[in-house]
Amino acid sequence: MKVSKIGGGHRSVIAGPCSVDTYDNLIKTAKAVKKAGATMLRGGAFKPRTSPYSFQGKGEEGLKMLVEAKKETGLPIVTELMSEKDIDLVYQYTDIVQIGARNMQNFALLKEIGKLGKPVILKNGIASTVKEHLMSVEYVLSGGLDDVIICLRGTRTYETAMRNTLDVNLVPYIQELTHLPVIVDPSHAAGKREFVSSLAYAGMAIGADGAIIEVHPCPSCALSDGDQALLPEDFQYLMDKLNKLEIWNQKDWNQKLNSN
Ligand code: PEP
Ligand code: MN
Repeated sequence: MKVSKIGGGHRSVIAGPCSVDTYDNLIKTAKAVKKAGATMLRGGAFKPRTSPYSFQGKGEEGLKMLVEAKKETGLPIVTELMSEKDIDLVYQYTDIVQIGARNMQNFALLKEIGKLGKPVILKNGIASTVKEHLMSVEYVLSGGLDDVIICLRGTRTYETAMRNTLDVNLVPYIQELTHLPVIVDPSHAAGKREFVSSLAYAGMAIGADGAIIEVHPCPSCALSDGDQALLPEDFQYLMDKLNKLEIWNQKDWNQKLNSN
């Protein structure tokens, strides 16, 4: 992968706001997450909101702010692409393209981005199965692109305690089925700030190749997903813990089971 290494033993944490709002908030976040050890900056400029009356994202203005933050910090950008009509625009600015849960089965979009050169993070769908998710990954790969990152953001189940249910065992399960990096999104899975770090920790401990985590310097001012945003200092705390983490090796474990 050209932008920043992920997979093949390189673990990488992507962090930033759910949506780009003010440049001041964005640059504060970018500097803080870089200092804490994040290797990429996330931020949505096109937001898939349940209500058409909710904040829809800053569009190109948001993309430009991300580029400014990249110039300041050197962090490559991850941002969501929602529609085929925005491909040219988003590709002008971003380093990595995020396809969100609601577009996991937008096959026309997946086919198009598979023909283009930028790495893609493909999240699972709102209530998708692993098979369906991996078939969507195939759609992108079949266009010719090699750089696809599989992202687990939890699914909707009968359980409502958390925003979504993320089975961390899917990390080693999918890693065995494919050679592609598998990352976790504890922010959209937990949906509540107090459970984001523990889930990030669990996901990384079980061997995820990375995590994508929402951080905002003023969660109550955030225009989307403020409830699940970590404060920069909480993110720093989490990263310090992750640096000391001993990681479960499923391959070794499988070998041990097979040799019994
Ligand atoms: C996001 O990353 O802010 C987002 C909208 O995520 P998801 O597609 O997983 O809901
Ligand atoms: Mn979000």
